[in-house]
Amino acid sequence: MQYLSTRGGIAPVSFSEAVMMGLAEDGGLLLPRTIPRIGSETLTAWQELGYQELALEIMSRFIDDIPRKELQELIDRSYSSFDDEAITPLVKKGDVYILELWHGPTLAFKDVALQFLGNLFEYMLKKDNSVLNIIGATSGDTGSAAIAGVRGKDRINIFILHPKGRVSPVQEKQMTTVMDDNIFNIAIEGSFDDGQAIVKDIFNDTEFKHQYHLGAINSINWARVLAQVVYYVYSTLQLMKKEKDFAVDFSIPTGNFGDIFAGYIARKMLPQGTLRNLVLATNGNDILSRMVQSGDYSLGEVKLTSSPSMDIQAASNFERYLFYLMDSDAVKTKNLMETFAAEGKIDLSDSMDQIRRDFSTASVSEEEVKDTIEKFYKENDYLLDPHTAVGVCAAAENRDTGIPIVCLATAHPAKFPAVVEEACGKVPVPPPQIDGLMEQESKCITMPADKDEIQQYIAEHARRS
Ligand SMILES: *Cc1c(COP(=O)(O)O)cnc(C)c1O
Repeated sequence: MQYLSTRGGIAPVSFSEAVMMGLAEDGGLLLPRTIPRIGSETLTAWQELGYQELALEIMSRFIDDIPRKELQELIDRSYSSFDDEAITPLVKKGDVYILELWHGPTLAFKDVALQFLGNLFEYMLKKDNSVLNIIGATSGDTGSAAIAGVRGKDRINIFILHPKGRVSPVQEKQMTTVMDDNIFNIAIEGSFDDGQAIVKDIFNDTEFKHQYHLGAINSINWARVLAQVVYYVYSTLQLMKKEKDFAVDFSIPTGNFGDIFAGYIARKMLPQGTLRNLVLATNGNDILSRMVQSGDYSLGEVKLTSSPSMDIQAASNFERYLFYLMDSDAVKTKNLMETFAAEGKIDLSDSMDQIRRDFSTASVSEEEVKDTIEKFYKENDYLLDPHTAVGVCAAAENRDTGIPIVCLATAHPAKFPAVVEEACGKVPVPPPQIDGLMEQESKCITMPADKDEIQQYIAEHARRS
C-alpha cells in the first residue's frame, strides 16, 4: 500500500515511511492510496477472530512492508499490556452499548494506538539501526500514554513537556513516576499552548531536527488512526453476532478528530449500510459540531471544560476528512487549509449534503455532562468519565430507535474522580494501574517556557546512534 499526502506535494511513500514521517513534508497528512473493502463473506468469517487476530487482518491490508509474522508479534506484544482479554470489551448498559477503550496501562483510549506505535517505532529503528528522540507537549492524556508506549525501549528517548501544576494530579503522577532512563518529563512554567509552541519551534529548526533524529507522536500519525480502526470493526462484529439487524451507529467524544476519523475509515471498509451513523460529540469547544450543522468551520477561543482532552479548537486530523469531502482533490484541500491558516475559518456550506450523510452531531454543555453521569449511574449503576459522558449525551440526542448505538468510552472514570463524584456522589475505585500512584516517587525537571533552554536540555540528553 502506498501513502499520499492530502496536499499532493510528495512522491508516494510506504507504510513505514509514512509512520516515520508523521506529518507529510508538504505540510499535509498521509493517507493510503485506496481504502481496502471487506466483503460480507470475509466479515462473517472474521466473527470468530479474537481482537489481536482481527487487528492483524485489518492492519495487513494497509501494511505491505512488514512481514505478517512480525506484524503479528508487534500486535501481540502491544495488547499484552491490557487488563481485559477482549482488549476493548463491549458492554450493554440500558439501551446503549459502551465500548470500553480504557483497559490499557494509562486508562485512556490513546493506549490502544500508542502501545502499538511504541513497538512499531522500536521495530523500525532496529531494522534501520537508527535512534529516535520523541518530543511532545501534552495537556495530560497523550503524554502519559506516549510515555507508557515507549518506556524502556532501547533506541528511543522521549521528552514530554507539560504545563506545571495545570494537569490533573493523577495525570501528572502517571507521567512522572515512570523511572526508566529514556523518559524525560519537563514541567514548564507556562501553559499548554506555550509548550506546544516550543515543540513546534524546535521541530522547525530543521538542522536540529535531523541532527538529533527528532520524532513526533501526536495524533496525526497514520499508525494511530489505523490501530483505532480495529475496535470499530471488532465491536461491529460482536453486534452482528447478537442482533439480527446488521446496521450499527457510533457516538464518539471528539477533540482532534483522530478517533472519529478511524470510524470513518472503518465505515468505508465495511459493506455499505453496516456501520451507519457516526455521531460527532463535542464539549463546549464546538467548532466541529458547528461544521456538521452548518458548514461553518471557524476557530473560537479554547474553553476549559470537565473533559480537558477535548478542549481543542483546530482539530489536527480534520484535513484528512476534508480531502475526502473534496473528492480526493489535493489542490482544493491545500487551498482550503491555507485559507484556514490565514483567516481562521473556512466555509463548507456548499458541501452540506455530503457532510450530513457522513455525520450527525451534538455539542454538550457542562450541565449536560454532569446530568448524564448522574442519570447513567442511577439507571445502570455504571460510572462514566466526563469525556464518555459527552458521547453518551450526544447519542441520546441522535438516536434512531431500532438500531444499536455504540458509545466509545475513552477514559476510565477514576482518571477524573472529582468531576464524577460531584456529578453523582460516587467516588470511582482506582484500578490497579493507578492504585497507590499518588504515593510514588516522581522524576521531573522544571524549566522556564524558554525554547533555547529546553532545546539545550534535549541536546544534552538525546539518544545518539
Ligand atoms: C484524546 C481524547 C479524546 C479525543 O480524541 P480525538 O482523537 O482527539 O478526537 C477523547 N477522550 C479522551 C479521554 C481522550 O484522551
